[in-house]
Amino acid sequence: MLFRSKEGGRNRFEFFDPSMGSQLHERFRMEESMRRGLAKGAFHVHFQPQIDARTHTVLGMEALLRWDDPEMGSIAPTRFIPVAEETGLILELGEFVFREALGFNQSLQTEGLPQIRVAVNLSSVQMLDPRLIERIENCLALTGADPHFLEVEVTESVLLEGSDKTLATLLRMKELGITLALDDFGTGYSSLSYLHHFPFDILKIDQSFIQALSSAVPGRNLASTIIAMGKSLGMELVAEGVEHLEQAHFLLANGCNKAQGFLYGYPMSPEDFRAFFRLKLETDQ
Ligand code: C2E
Ligand code: CA
Ligand code: CA
Repeated sequence: MLFRSKEGGRNRFEFFDPSMGSQLHERFRMEESMRRGLAKGAFHVHFQPQIDARTHTVLGMEALLRWDDPEMGSIAPTRFIPVAEETGLILELGEFVFREALGFNQSLQTEGLPQIRVAVNLSSVQMLDPRLIERIENCLALTGADPHFLEVEVTESVLLEGSDKTLATLLRMKELGITLALDDFGTGYSSLSYLHHFPFDILKIDQSFIQALSSAVPGRNLASTIIAMGKSLGMELVAEGVEHLEQAHFLLANGCNKAQGFLYGYPMSPEDFRAFFRLKLETDQ
């Protein structure tokens, strides 16, 4: 079976066993359900706040895709996004996320709430799509959103595939006024000098470093090194996966003020995010 032998490494022969058949069946079933779900409105976008940990003001939000299938229930993006990438469905799904994220942010601004950025995750398959810029421009035009309030998040693995083309696409996004964030910073293999060639504005410190903060000295050293590295590159830093107050205190003491995580807010439906944002503004005054 193709999937299994790829995962098992090169030059490996594997005999068919029934569990592989059921894995494959599961993928086909998921692909079918995804197509149906896309047509029937089973996908939703949730929004998680990004906070200034000093003042507790809302700085922005990250759009996170959700899928509720009538038969399979709620399915995690880490499960369905790889299948969407393999089948190319990610192109349509990704465009849906841009449209929803930009439309929601635009509606908040129309209601008179302070202007914030919305971050959208982009997979490597989308990055290599020749129509990517056109799709983003269409979504901007359709929603009337200002590209200066759009952020695009990519991981280091996205940079490794098709570098020249990727660089050109990132530069084009920057020309449009879009902010670029490197997601899961610290987990990839690229060197700092390599990263320097790409026009990122923001580094999102991976959750694993924040979790390691709870584990005593080595974890703390690792996190402060990652923060120092980010700062030396002259970039804005956002800590991801902040769950505990001690983690927030450590980050603040090390000069990282921007944070995202369950401590500040879970990913929320648009209605809940709007209420959360309004409440934050009221309690600030
Ligand atoms: P990510 O981009 O690194 O997103 C952050 C993930 O961490 C989200 O999981 C979020 O719910 C979770 N998270 C946030 N704060 C905390 C915290 O304090 N503690 C813990 N333990 N987790 C926290 P989610 O929504 O399940 O998404 C998982 C991954 O799926 C994302 O990781 C991203 O790689 C991918 N994904 C989600 N939505 C999209 C999308 O629209 N497009 C693409 N291409 N990928 C997406
Ligand atoms: Ca992300
Ligand atoms: Ca991340």
